[in-house]
Formats: sequence, structure tokens, C-alpha cells
Amino acid sequence: MPVDYPREFQGFAITDPKDWDHPKLTSYEPKKFGPHDVDIEVECCGICATELFCLKNQWSSEPLACLSSAYGPKSQVVGHEVVGRVVAVGDDVTLCRKGERVGLGAQCSSCMACPRCHAHNEQYCAKSVATYCSRYEDGYVSQGGYASHVRAHEQFCFPIPAEIESQYVAPLMCGGLTVYSPIKRGIEGLENPHVGVIGIGGLGHMAIMIAKAMGAHVTAFSRSSKKRADAEKMGADAFVATGEQPNWSKDLFDGFDLLVNCASSTTQLDLDAFLSVLKVNKNFISVGLPEMDDKFVLSPLTFMGNGPCVGVSKLGSRQEAIELLQLAATRGFRPWVETIKISEAGVHEGLTRLDAGDVRYRFTLVGFHDFFGT
Ligand code: NDP
Ligand code: ZN
Repeated sequence: MPVDYPREFQGFAITDPKDWDHPKLTSYEPKKFGPHDVDIEVECCGICATELFCLKNQWSSEPLACLSSAYGPKSQVVGHEVVGRVVAVGDDVTLCRKGERVGLGAQCSSCMACPRCHAHNEQYCAKSVATYCSRYEDGYVSQGGYASHVRAHEQFCFPIPAEIESQYVAPLMCGGLTVYSPIKRGIEGLENPHVGVIGIGGLGHMAIMIAKAMGAHVTAFSRSSKKRADAEKMGADAFVATGEQPNWSKDLFDGFDLLVNCASSTTQLDLDAFLSVLKVNKNFISVGLPEMDDKFVLSPLTFMGNGPCVGVSKLGSRQEAIELLQLAATRGFRPWVETIKISEAGVHEGLTRLDAGDVRYRFTLVGFHDFFGT
């Protein structure tokens, strides 16, 4: 492999979930370079709520995986909405070229051989590796994109249309793709589909724009009316403040072909009311992943009125990522982004403000070349 950059990557890492909001600049060894691997010199990286759950270790009862890794760093770098240039490619890479601008989302590897991988469902491959905090077969724990470089399998590095600026591409790589996949799978082939988007944060605001660009009638559901004007600017046809309109579900009976739940917690989510507004046999799909002890509580009786289905959707496929980038390029929608320059202080600011819900609607960390001298 021709290496014209340091063999060690640099990134902002934690070693203890108690210090989740103070990642420190660290050097670490990347995973072994495989024949299908690509090294990306990072230009910018979005901040997804998943970072908070990982850094605080709220999705697992085990200690952080990196602390017991067989080899590789004993610290954890997060970040999975990565945009950058390809600076090295493995011998068997055919999907990317050196010098090309690519995006990488929340998945960096899969087996590429199972029926799921072959059927454009590689996000559900049993050997899937997430871009950070996830174990490769050899024990290395993956390290994310708040970093100088990231190493990933070529399948998960997506070519970016020239017309979209990197800071807007970054949030599409995880958040955008995660909502594009269930919206596409849920409304394809329907005439005048009605889609409800629940929780207008990073994922939710992109879901409004994506569903709209795909021709749906879109209703935004938020807990209060504070985001009404923004949701309408994003393209929502209707807005419901669930915490302020006690009988909202009565008025929306038989209203939806699809509900996409983007809320990061269920504590203020009235699931019974949401299920009641679906048309017969239609889907409530959750992409929101709350902390481990936060559950959906449902009685079978709730389903008797309209026979709805409850499901969850994870990320999206390479094919869907490429479709989404094309949709954004041709239809012109862009995530609402606030940029923050990368540094220890910048990472701290982004994580703590996201944790406090103080974001309209996605942070993208920028200025990586200046900071890392790349
Ligand atoms: P944000 O924090 O940006 O948005 C979350 C939204 O959830 C808030 O804006 C708010 O919307 C709503 N919300 C917050 N607290 C509550 C509560 N107590 N009860 C009900 N609703 C609440 O997060 P992201 O958009 O970045 O991520 C959303 C979720 O999606 C996270 O759980 C994340 O881990 C998950 N995720 C899942 C993926 C997957 O593959 N399935 C991939 C990526 C992320 P409002 O103010 O409008 O009510
Ligand atoms: Zn994410």
C-alpha cells in the first residue's frame, strides 16, 4: 500500500463513558488494511444522536468494547457521517478511486457474501461492522470519523455528486439514509402517499424533506409547537404539536400510509395514539433508538382497530445511499446544518448542545484539514 500520510490516525477519543462529553485528541493504529479497504482523509463529519448513546454506553450492559479489544486502540473515536477524499485503496478495490470525494455512513463492513448482502440488505448482514464501537472478526474495534482518517470497506464509501457541498452531504450519510430507506420501502408505488414524521430532530427534519421530494403529503409531529415554522419551511404540509393538542389523533383517523418515528426516546411518545391514525395494515417504523431500558409498551388490543404493523429500520443499503444522494442533487433539498470547527472544544460543544436538544437541526464538524494539517 502506498502510504503518503502517517501510519497512525488521529482522532478525538474517550476511554470512560463518564467523560463522554470530553473526547481528547489521541493517536491510534488503524485496522489492518484489507484488499477491499479504502482510507478516507476526512474533510467533515456530522454529529448524530447515536454518538451520545455510544459515548455514554447506553445501548449495552458491557463496558465499552474498545477497553477489552484484542489489538488496536483502547479508546473510542465516534463519528459516522463522514465526507472526505480517498487517499489509499486496497489492491482489489473497484468502487472508488484515489482522489475521489466519498461519503461513509454508520456501517463500514459486511460479509458481502450472504443472501442479505446480495439482496441490498447489507445493513442486516450478521457480520456487519458499524463505523465505530463495533468489533471486526480479528478483534479490532472500529474507530469513527472525528478523526484525521477513517478506514472502511469500499462498499460503504459512496461517490458524491459534485453539486452538493460536503457539509450538507455529511448528515445524509447516516441520518438521511436511515430515513430514506424506510420511506422508500414504505411508499414506493403508492399514489399520493401520506407520511407522518415523528420527532423533528436531525433525522426527522431530513425525513420531512426526503418524503416531500419523493412526492408524499407530509405531516410533522413534534412534542410542542416550537418547531412549527421550521417544519413548514422544510416542506411539511401539516404540523401536529402532540403535547399541546390533546385530541390530535381523533382528527387524523385513517390518515397515514406510513409513520416514521425519529424520536430518540419513548418517554413522551403516545404509541397507542400513533398506531390509531394509520390506515389498515400500514406501518409504524421506528428509526429512533432510545437507551436500553426505554421500551415500547403495547397491548395486542391496540391493534384491533386497524391491524397496523410496528417495525424498526436500520440504516440503508449502498444502492439506497446512492439514490438518496441523487435525489438531493436533483431535487435540491439540503439538511439544515450548523457548522462547528473541529477541536476538543468544538467536539465538546457539538455533543453537549445536541444532548440538550439545542440544535437546528444537525451539526457538521468542519475544518479537519486545518486542524490535522492534512
Ligand atoms: P436528535 O436529538 O437530533 O432528535 C431526536 C428528536 O426526538 C428530538 O428533536 C425530539 O423531537 C424527539 N425527542 C427527544 N426527546 C424525546 C422524548 N423524551 N420523547 C419523545 N420524543 C423525544 O436525534 P437524531 O435525529 O440524531 O437521532 C434520532 C434517533 O435515531 C436516535 O435515537 C438515534 O440513535 C437514532 N438513529 C437510528 C439509526 C438507525 O439505523 N435506526 C441511525 C441513526 C440514528 P421533537 O422536539 O420534535 O419532539
Ligand atoms: Zn447516526
